[in-house]
Amino acid sequence: MAPSPEPSYAAGLVWFRRDLRAHDHAALYRALTQCRQVHCVFVFDREILDLLPRADRRVEFIRESLVELDAALRALGQHPHAGLIVRHTIASDAVPALAQALQVQAVFANHDDEPQALQRDSRVRTRLAAAGRAFHTFKDHTLLERSEVLTQTGKPYSVFTPYKNAWLQKVDAFQLSSYPVERHAHRLAPRPLEHCQPVPTLASLGFETTALSQPRLPTGASGAQQLFNDFLGRMERYDDTRNFPAIKGPSYLSVHLRFGTISPRRLARTAHRLMQQGNPGATTWLSELIWRDFYFQILHHHPHVVGHSFKPAYDAIAWESGPEADALFAAWCQGRTGYPLVDAAMAQLNQTGYMHNRLRMVVASFLVKDLGIDWRRGEAYFASQLNDFDLAANNGGWQWASSSGCDAQPYFRIFNPVSQSEKFDADGKFIRRYLPQLARLPAKALHAPWLARPLELQEAGVVLGKTYPHPVVDHDSARLRTLQRYAVVKAG
Ligand code: FAD
Repeated sequence: MAPSPEPSYAAGLVWFRRDLRAHDHAALYRALTQCRQVHCVFVFDREILDLLPRADRRVEFIRESLVELDAALRALGQHPHAGLIVRHTIASDAVPALAQALQVQAVFANHDDEPQALQRDSRVRTRLAAAGRAFHTFKDHTLLERSEVLTQTGKPYSVFTPYKNAWLQKVDAFQLSSYPVERHAHRLAPRPLEHCQPVPTLASLGFETTALSQPRLPTGASGAQQLFNDFLGRMERYDDTRNFPAIKGPSYLSVHLRFGTISPRRLARTAHRLMQQGNPGATTWLSELIWRDFYFQILHHHPHVVGHSFKPAYDAIAWESGPEADALFAAWCQGRTGYPLVDAAMAQLNQTGYMHNRLRMVVASFLVKDLGIDWRRGEAYFASQLNDFDLAANNGGWQWASSSGCDAQPYFRIFNPVSQSEKFDADGKFIRRYLPQLARLPAKALHAPWLARPLELQEAGVVLGKTYPHPVVDHDSARLRTLQRYAVVKAG
């Protein structure tokens, strides 16, 4: 890390958004090195919150993580009035107003490249500038961002493997190192008395408590640390375990990466070091972190992917619509398709807000290529349910599954939901966990109950059409319809 310059501002304000930690934080570090006094704020933005249902696991996750962030800032600031100012209002109004009230010369924040966030930041920048204040933003959420990784001709990559190779060439010790926030923490300012309030309760924000998923999702920087410690012992086997939803294979860190309760630099540094020691699991896991950067740079360079296909020809596809399609979509959302792996996956999503990556691919493919429903409807449903919902990764995942995206799977590759089930949940452990009504079926009958012998169904207490649905479509005929539907893009 370069030596810190002398502070150039008397006071600054750090605006926390998707970076809810007090360590290894780019904007906080920059503010602490450039200002003699640093205030910290988080705004529960009513422009976002007012659109959400009154029980939302993510709001609860954020609130609990803020309690921890506030405590961490107080401990770092070593002053009874240090800590986080928390507001519940419109962020683009509140931040310039607070900057004025605190008489700071600059506001510091980390990049948020989602289109709505960019618009919000541009409003904030204009208002701050009108009052003679600066707005400084920094890379923090990804390892390499925007135009940091380009092809030799200076174009953004749209295929993952060459992007990954260039990423690995480009990443260096600086990109992977932490920002030593602690060294400058004495500059954290005491909060003015009127702002010395605890983080608001969920009820005062107008929200109800949720179960925050079962088993309970660990929140805050300590929760992230706990999950990472647990994963460290398993990382070496990630390659072998990551595709099997009944096994504790992946890290479960996505919600923490989403809200920044853990530093992506810390994770990538560990994986990179282990990769260099020849650890196969760490090599694959680092690739997943690179996929994350890849989709962020796709969103940055191709903002039309929000609402449109990455490959424009795919916008010509005619999707199913009308009451029958609506009924099929509802069956998919509620896990009533009659395909056990799809239904168990949707139950996992609806109950916990998490879904295993293999299953995200299976259910997305099922919606688009078995039910013929527009990927944007599935994308929106995931956005409403996923704890880790991130526009760039979610859009990338859906466009991958619908074949409309960059480096997507070819349109004629159509997952068979039964063979996926036989391959990745062979003994049905995952299905039994989420579909107890099928739990007594023998493994071989579990993947396609409509093919089971009547006696098997009877002994397991399964009555198709009553205790568990008949399949809503026949996969083989759906497959043929999909190939016809995609014929419009053959040339694309
Ligand atoms: P691990 O396997 O431990 O991976 C580590 C981290 O790498 C993840 O936490 C995540 O940040 C990143 N990562 C892994 N795979 C991908 C990927 N394919 N694309 C981008 N980043 C990746 N991920 C989200 O974070 N938010 C989403 O909204 C999201 N929506 C998705 C929708 C679809 C249709 C698909 C197919 C994938 C989606 N993913 C999304 C990617 C992936 O499924 C999740 O990141 C992963 O399942 C999270 O579990 P984990 O933390 O245990 O992952």
